[in-house]
Amino acid sequence: MKMIQLLPEVAAFLDAAQGLRIDGEQIATSETISVENPSDCSILAQVACANAGHVDQAVSAARQALTGPWASLTPHDRGQLLWKLADAIEERKDVFGQLDALDNGKPFAHARDVDAVWSARHFRYFAGWPSKIQGATIPVSTPDRFNFTRIEPVGVCGIITPWNYPTLMVAWKLAPALAAGNTIVLKPAEQTPLSALYLADLAHEVGFPKGVLNVIPGYGRDAGAALAAHHGVDKVGFTGSTETGRRIVEASAGNLKKVSLELGGKAANILFDDADLSKAIPGAFWALFGNNGQSCTAGARLYVHRSKMDEVLDGLQELANGLSIGPGMAQDAHALGPVISEPQMTKVLGYIESGRADGGEIVAGGARQGNSGYFVQPTVIAGVRDDMAVAREEIFGPVLCVLPFDDEDDVLARANDTVYGLAAGCWTQDISRANRMAAGLKAGTIWINCWGDTDAASPFGGMGQSGYGREMGPDALALYTQTKSVWQG
Ligand code: ADP
Repeated sequence: MKMIQLLPEVAAFLDAAQGLRIDGEQIATSETISVENPSDCSILAQVACANAGHVDQAVSAARQALTGPWASLTPHDRGQLLWKLADAIEERKDVFGQLDALDNGKPFAHARDVDAVWSARHFRYFAGWPSKIQGATIPVSTPDRFNFTRIEPVGVCGIITPWNYPTLMVAWKLAPALAAGNTIVLKPAEQTPLSALYLADLAHEVGFPKGVLNVIPGYGRDAGAALAAHHGVDKVGFTGSTETGRRIVEASAGNLKKVSLELGGKAANILFDDADLSKAIPGAFWALFGNNGQSCTAGARLYVHRSKMDEVLDGLQELANGLSIGPGMAQDAHALGPVISEPQMTKVLGYIESGRADGGEIVAGGARQGNSGYFVQPTVIAGVRDDMAVAREEIFGPVLCVLPFDDEDDVLARANDTVYGLAAGCWTQDISRANRMAAGLKAGTIWINCWGDTDAASPFGGMGQSGYGREMGPDALALYTQTKSVWQG
């Protein structure tokens, strides 16, 4: 198979020793992470690996930078730096695309045109905010007193990100945190540290003062846990699994740091009997198979009205069988890449077996594809019941579970019967029903006759065990600022 040629900049980046980025310097470590290419199981690069001591070092640098030149930048200048970073990401979108395609495995075109371009847009949206973060004068009822508020940065932010959108998840958190004037210690996922390191260099290049953005790849149990527990960290912004989110909350208790969490999901997607099937079938298909099922918003539980079941299953089967799967850097653009790692592949295949053993019918896929790289066939399981593990637990891979329903009230109750609440949606041409679903579904994002849309201006986050806090839009700034009340006599 022909592969896309590595850009000279990417080849040089992979060849170079990649140290931690702390206080504008590269720091080598004795332990390193071997970064794997899940498309062919080769080792792409050796990257420095932070331990608790390095976390201390990075937190001190971030603390110091809070009172350095960064603090005296005007809102205008801070916004301009964010804008420059956005431009730099867009100019190097091919580099970002290649780095994410290599260590994540997602198709290069997706990595470039979705992850990198939307990351640039995210920085650009938040570049407009520094000059608009404003307090208020308060009409207090005490005579001879003047009261006003100041909206200030929280301080040092520990940012911990997952591997499914390596650049984009970093952008979602960094852009509002920097817009608000915080300093950052970023720990990217150990599987996908490349684009975060590259971003640190770019931030430095466009003029962010040293120590404002420190990037320390490392393992969750070491560097991640140390960052979450560190008393010098004022806030942790986390995206990842619900189990790890719980650990982060526990670790944060020592200094009662602020925490925002974007965690797992098991989104219900309801296809009513009045849906426009020409849109709903591909829509429901991509709701799950987009990003290879490796999204916390994946439409994993597809409830289909019994009267439409045969037609829908035929459509899903045809789409699944027609998908091309291949390496992230293949010249022939593929629709899906591999899953992220061997343990993840084993977990996904285990869920497929459990679905089969519990009485589900595999109508497409159902197995590993090939034996080099962690490819799993796009899999559709029909006849799933709500009590089956595949319907209750987050699989985070290319496995779509299809469940029949007959009645609107009943399907709403079933859709809401989950500990999660990140996303949900439905397909219907009845506006009243759409509004009932928008009100009744228990999730932070509801998609009606569409799926997966996000925007830097629109709030995003979870209910229940999908976490708390809302990223994007003004809500995201609230996560990275604190309000001070000032009284003058
Ligand atoms: P996954 O299981 O899909 O890798 P995780 O939630 O474990 O999802 O990983 C998301 C991020 O959380 C990664 O950067 C990972 O290193 C980090 N992480 C894992 N465990 C911990 C922990 N105990 N404390 C802090 N961060 C952690």
